[in-house]
Amino acid sequence: MTWPWGNPPPIRIYNSLTRREETFPPVDAHPEVSIYVCGPTTYQFVHVGNMRNPVFYDVVRRIFKSHGYRVKFVTNFTDIDDKMIEEAKKVGESDPIQLSARFVHEYYTDLFALGVEEADFYPKVSTHIDEIIEYVKLIMDNGHGYIGKDKSVYFDIASYPDYLQLSGMKMDDLLDESRQDETADAKNDPRDFALWKAAKPGEPSWPSPWGPGRPGWHIECSVMSAKYLGPSFDIHGGGKELKFPHHENEIAQAKCGHPDEDFARIWMHNEWVVLKGGEKMAKSGESILIRDVLKKYDPEVIRLFLLSAHYRKEVEFSFEKIDELTKAKERLSETFRRLTDFLRWRAEERNENWLQIWDQVDRDYGQDDEKEGAGRIISKFDDGIRLDTDDLNPQPTDFYLVTAVREALYLAHRHFADDFDTQGAVGELFRLISRINSSLEKMSADNVHDFDAANIALGGLVHLTEILGVNKRERENLYLTEKGREQAEKGGGDAAKLADVLMKLREDARASKNFELADSIRDQLAEIGAEVRDSKDGPRIVWK
Ligand SMILES: [Zn+2]
Repeated sequence: MTWPWGNPPPIRIYNSLTRREETFPPVDAHPEVSIYVCGPTTYQFVHVGNMRNPVFYDVVRRIFKSHGYRVKFVTNFTDIDDKMIEEAKKVGESDPIQLSARFVHEYYTDLFALGVEEADFYPKVSTHIDEIIEYVKLIMDNGHGYIGKDKSVYFDIASYPDYLQLSGMKMDDLLDESRQDETADAKNDPRDFALWKAAKPGEPSWPSPWGPGRPGWHIECSVMSAKYLGPSFDIHGGGKELKFPHHENEIAQAKCGHPDEDFARIWMHNEWVVLKGGEKMAKSGESILIRDVLKKYDPEVIRLFLLSAHYRKEVEFSFEKIDELTKAKERLSETFRRLTDFLRWRAEERNENWLQIWDQVDRDYGQDDEKEGAGRIISKFDDGIRLDTDDLNPQPTDFYLVTAVREALYLAHRHFADDFDTQGAVGELFRLISRINSSLEKMSADNVHDFDAANIALGGLVHLTEILGVNKRERENLYLTEKGREQAEKGGGDAAKLADVLMKLREDARASKNFELADSIRDQLAEIGAEVRDSKDGPRIVWK
């Protein structure tokens, strides 16, 4: 891929394994990024803190795509482990996998509400038992696993001298706690961990060469990452609490299963969402369910909150902060509306098709898997051209605005490339918004340069908000309203034609699961006297 205006800033990532920032290979040399992130054990509704990880990686994927990379993203569900079994017993559910399936469904609902793009794969343990058994056999054949006195299969940590490289812990650190473990006596060394657990009465189990049992907790991620991304891949993510034992054990299993492969080249660990006073928001302690928060707040505000700190820093949850961000988000939507109003008005004056202009802006600045547009935008803003826009007053408004957009995109992308600093980028977005607003006050309808500058400002907003995944619903709504308006004008005000178009848009909205928008279109149809009735044969219109 070529970059007509130079190169975008190379992405630098803090690698927890090497404990330093590393430059990610450029897109020309390495066009596909493979990412595996440890997902949840799905036995209850999730809290706000659980959503930091999926929302953050959603933005990481968008940042890579904005550079022109293809991204392959896998995140798992643990649907069988000790916690699942315990919780199923507690709630009187005989099958933990069924209980998990219900909460996986609930989890998807929360993910999509927060605008998280679908992963390429969401593997579950219970549907990968055969692969897990094969992998355990591989580890045993390579001399790193043994059958314990309790018929479980254990990993022999003494056989893997590189153990604990990621966490930097010492083998002696593990002794006291591991001696307390109920399986300590069954193992050669109490610090060894289970690859396969022998069945206990009343627990789900699968047949295996070692007798009936179920996978140990850690083996799933080594197996499923290898299955979907190959035994060597780019980035492995997860919360910092997973470093030990989960990620250490994943590495041990992978390196002993496939000794000639890298496994994950870069390890990323995110900090937690904390409550006031620094206490971790956790399933066991005080926590705030995302489901409850979304009843009262705009999901995109919650996204902004989760992105408002660098992922390697804690972020403190408070309703005051959410209220503040709600106001900021309103400012963003309002600016977007003002800009598009200005542009539509000017386009009409110039006899230009405003929707075509908008489509062009989306193509040039938005994110689309099939094109390289976003990279072109970034690369326009190389170091040399940075200007401090505040010094430009009193410059002509159009010049001020265009420079403000360039500066915002340049700086935001520098933050993104600096170990995915979303906090810095969100700051740039809001600085740009105030600058667009102050420009709009001064812009005039008859200045052709103002029109072009406003166009670029719209592009800048589209670009940044798409990477952060905010303002999507409003933008869609606004666009569809404009489209409806255009169609109505074309049809000479024919209400039936307009209703047909709106119905099609509503179907599209439903197909893309944007039910909020679909409902809003239904309400708009009602306003022109067209009532939508959903029937077995699909929706139809009843005129009032
Ligand atoms: Zn994992």
